[in-house]
Amino acid sequence: MIKEKGTISINTENIFPIIKKFLYSDHEIFLRELVSNAIDATQKIKRLSSLGQYNKELGELTVQIKVNKKKKTITISDAGLGMTAEELKKYINQVAFSGATEFMEKFKEAKDANEIIGRFGLGFYSAFMVSEKVEIQTLSYQEGAAPAKWTCDGSTAFEIAAGKRETRGTDIILYVNEESAEFLEDHRIQQILDKYAKFLPVPIQFGTKSESVEDGKDEEGKTKYKSIDVPNIINKTQPIWTKAPSELKDEDYLSFYKELYPFTEDPLFWIHLNVDYPFNLTGVLYFPKLKNDFEIQKNKIKLFSRQVFITDEVKDVVPEFLMLLHGVIDSPDIPLNVSRSFLQSDSNVKKINSYISRKVAEKLQELFNKDRKGYESKWNDIGLFVKYGALSDEKFYEKAKDFVLLSNTQQEFFTPEEYKTKVKDFQTDKNGQLIWLYTGDADQQHSFIQSAQQKQYDVLLMNSPIDNHFMQHLEMKLEKTTFKRVDADIVQKLIEKEEAPKHSLTEEQSNQIKALFEKALNNTAMKVEVESLAAEALPVTITMEEWMRRMKEMSKMGGGPMSFYGSMPDSYKVAINANHRLIGKILAADEASQTTLAKQACDLALLSQGLLKGADLTKFVERSVEVL
Ligand code: ADP
Repeated sequence: MIKEKGTISINTENIFPIIKKFLYSDHEIFLRELVSNAIDATQKIKRLSSLGQYNKELGELTVQIKVNKKKKTITISDAGLGMTAEELKKYINQVAFSGATEFMEKFKEAKDANEIIGRFGLGFYSAFMVSEKVEIQTLSYQEGAAPAKWTCDGSTAFEIAAGKRETRGTDIILYVNEESAEFLEDHRIQQILDKYAKFLPVPIQFGTKSESVEDGKDEEGKTKYKSIDVPNIINKTQPIWTKAPSELKDEDYLSFYKELYPFTEDPLFWIHLNVDYPFNLTGVLYFPKLKNDFEIQKNKIKLFSRQVFITDEVKDVVPEFLMLLHGVIDSPDIPLNVSRSFLQSDSNVKKINSYISRKVAEKLQELFNKDRKGYESKWNDIGLFVKYGALSDEKFYEKAKDFVLLSNTQQEFFTPEEYKTKVKDFQTDKNGQLIWLYTGDADQQHSFIQSAQQKQYDVLLMNSPIDNHFMQHLEMKLEKTTFKRVDADIVQKLIEKEEAPKHSLTEEQSNQIKALFEKALNNTAMKVEVESLAAEALPVTITMEEWMRRMKEMSKMGGGPMSFYGSMPDSYKVAINANHRLIGKILAADEASQTTLAKQACDLALLSQGLLKGADLTKFVERSVEVL
């Protein structure tokens, strides 16, 4: 064969310096690109063989990676379909872009190496990020093909000549440059392969490992062992997401999970994804046991394209509320050289996103229908996903409303629809509004819960970080439904009924009591009112109005327009129970005892709301001792 020299493309004068210089942070992807090319070439020869277009032995198809520290080379070898000299010219020389000018323009917009490589079909050329010279030795599968060699020293000049490869396939030999010496370290290569190549569909060998094998018997007849070097295959060629769900057992899913995330607890359940229209997607998504450190758990979904790892930043592919899921997604519709901007704008990606959201909803509905008790037992872990999903994704809410659960202080679970039925008899107010009572802290609000329950009211437990938002959402969605915390008012007024209870005090007595207690409290933020409560209820009850407390809580969480409320002083309502014996006693007492009794009753109420602190608490204790 005649030696041939030329330049890669008249317009590519500046491309190598750019590749080398600007794409620095992504250097390790050269190996991903070259190994993917080797895999593609291998898959192609397999396909040709199965189509009967190649009739010779396929032989050993393992892709091999070798590092020679002395010669400073990395070689990637495959037994794929190889290339003829003509094909080298066609596929390697004609870099797939129209000209340097366009390249430079696009380059300025591009945010990372992936975008450049993807847009211009520069996969192979990423080799130059780490090499001062690249050599290709290749022999095509085609009848009568001659081995060919391509070399290029990183300038735009290349050389094609007769090669020396004797078997079908391709060697890519990288002469690693000074700055990239790290890639001559085995552990570095191993690390990159672990990241990108762990599940590639063709076996990949990197180095050898020792294995112990049987070696005859000793004098006593015991089996002897010796250690031999065997090829170190770094990948699993058939990861579970490539198999049909019917072939798989629970153990398979669990052990794959352990392989991806060693040292984590078993997941709660999983979803096997499998679509081929209108886009291609396979994968397995796991619901992990949730810990409180949400942040650390993010970015646990790995995105693959035909088993090549792409990224674990799946923000645009997976609905945000499902970012805490773990697992893998594989879609050939996502190009290998995917970039941020691609993911954001691609319509397939949007479809994938809503598909995943739908699948998750279906799985949850299925669990709910099939095994309600089991589903309830997992609610602690999945509740946050479901509520957050319902809040952030309208379509998801439409499905989730049938399997989102509310639990009450008795640990019973209800869907919103079920709950409506449960409470409608006792908890509808005089305007036909359903009042759903809840507590954020069952211990702290114990006395309020108790008095609500005495009136046959049910109390929900709403103590997760997003429950405030979730309740507001439900109020918007459900008709004539309002949430009220149990301590938002005295029990008679939490749910207002027709008959307004009357008490027996005269107006003058009422005013006297009111004045006495205002003086005892000595706090303008506490609004005193005389109410007619059950004789056995507490003499003084302190409450904070629902909307005021909610505004304050929201302002604590989010700021924004709500922060205004955060700066307002707390304001409370103080209900004096006109029917309590103590009130009669106060009215009949002398002035000094009146003050002591009123103070004592107020402090007890403050104490039960956790509002009595510091010097006031000390005074209360002293006064109590005195009274005793
Ligand atoms: P892409 O893989 O995106 O097409 P590359 O620059 O990585 O872009 O490769 C260009 C072409 O060179 C490939 O499409 C393929 O035809 C050929 N090629 C690259 N590596 C190999 C290989 N190991 N064996 C056979 N052909 C290869």
